[in-house]
Amino acid sequence: MNETKSFDKVSLLRLAFNDLADDELQEMADLTEICTYPPGHVLCREGAYEDIFYIIADGSASISKNISEQEGERILRNVVRGDLIGEMALIQNVARSATVRTLTDLTVLEMEKKDFEAMLSRSPSMAINIIRTTLNRMRENDQIAIQVLQTTNKVLRQLDRNKLEFIQVAAHELRTPLTVLKGYVSVLGSSPDIKANAALGEVMSGILKGADRMHEVVNTMLDVTRIDNEALKIAAVPVPLKRVIADVVHDFSKTAAERQIEIVLEQDAATPNINGDPTLIQKALHHLIVNAIKYTPDGGKVTLRSRPITMDKNTPGVEVSVKDTGIGMDAEHHDLVFEKFYQVGVVAIHSSGKTTFKGGGPGLGLAIVRGVARAHGGKVWVESSGHDEVNFPGSTFYLQLPIDPPS
Ligand code: ADP
Repeated sequence: MNETKSFDKVSLLRLAFNDLADDELQEMADLTEICTYPPGHVLCREGAYEDIFYIIADGSASISKNISEQEGERILRNVVRGDLIGEMALIQNVARSATVRTLTDLTVLEMEKKDFEAMLSRSPSMAINIIRTTLNRMRENDQIAIQVLQTTNKVLRQLDRNKLEFIQVAAHELRTPLTVLKGYVSVLGSSPDIKANAALGEVMSGILKGADRMHEVVNTMLDVTRIDNEALKIAAVPVPLKRVIADVVHDFSKTAAERQIEIVLEQDAATPNINGDPTLIQKALHHLIVNAIKYTPDGGKVTLRSRPITMDKNTPGVEVSVKDTGIGMDAEHHDLVFEKFYQVGVVAIHSSGKTTFKGGGPGLGLAIVRGVARAHGGKVWVESSGHDEVNFPGSTFYLQLPIDPPS
């Protein structure tokens, strides 16, 4: 650190505090000291409590911040003559929010915290000036942060598109050989040799069951690529909702019975028909019931209800709810479970099987349900008091759809 004697402190201070009167500037100048630091010197360190406030007289420095453990430190901006450093931390009495490192030889006016505070309390115009400068800087920082977020968001969207394209290609590539495999296995299964051999018959049915399950996963992958497309347009036709719900329930009656799970259907007689895409609605209900069964232990109960409702802007609609007596879900996951591939807990310890208790899945079911709801101008959400595998508080998923989807 060097001391520089001949320096016009007042004209420098005027750059930073242009509303202050000359005598105030002079008073402030008398309380400052001029110092010069070499390049690479750390003037302030993020997280440290320091007692000095700086005004840059000559040279430049970088302001950087630790973003995260992975991303490390990022330079937010550079500061030059007339810029203030450290006044925010002194006003707030907190640690430095960023690190300031000299890029060149840097000459600064330094003021001690106690003198700075004395000046602030004596001179309202200086206090206002500093507040104004500080607010401007905060606004600039906000602007920088918004730009960084916008760029990151763009990159993430592109990555998400790449991921969906990959899933789409992979699913298409898998579907054809799977169809061929299923065809050959069926042919083989009808051969008299196999029919005469019970052990081989069982092997064949195992292969077919596995191939069917794979087919289903591949179709779910294709559904999510279609539904995730924000431009998804549905061809709306009248959907007899009560019957569609009853049919989906019927499809699962055997699976539920195998696990002693009771499925209860309580449809309000006034549940209206709606206009929508019956295949998509059926898929959404399918995933909700699969989950309700999958996350409910043997002997539990799944209740499906439907009723007419009035949605936002007085739009007539219908609500379908699927309530289970399963493991429940903590609030932190209530929104995230509708994201693609999001699964609660450690995926590796899940058992496999579509409706076995806590059976594994690709984490796409609820993303499809949300896509279907949105495509119809509706919404879906979950309510649960929390995850508990002792008391099984259960979860209730609500799907609301308008009678007429937006055109
Ligand atoms: P998955 O294929 O894993 O079932 P989903 O998108 O259908 O994917 O569900 C995402 C996650 O939400 C699941 O991994 C599970 O942790 C949780 N979940 C979904 N439905 C229920 C439910 N009825 N009860 C408890 N947790 C559930």
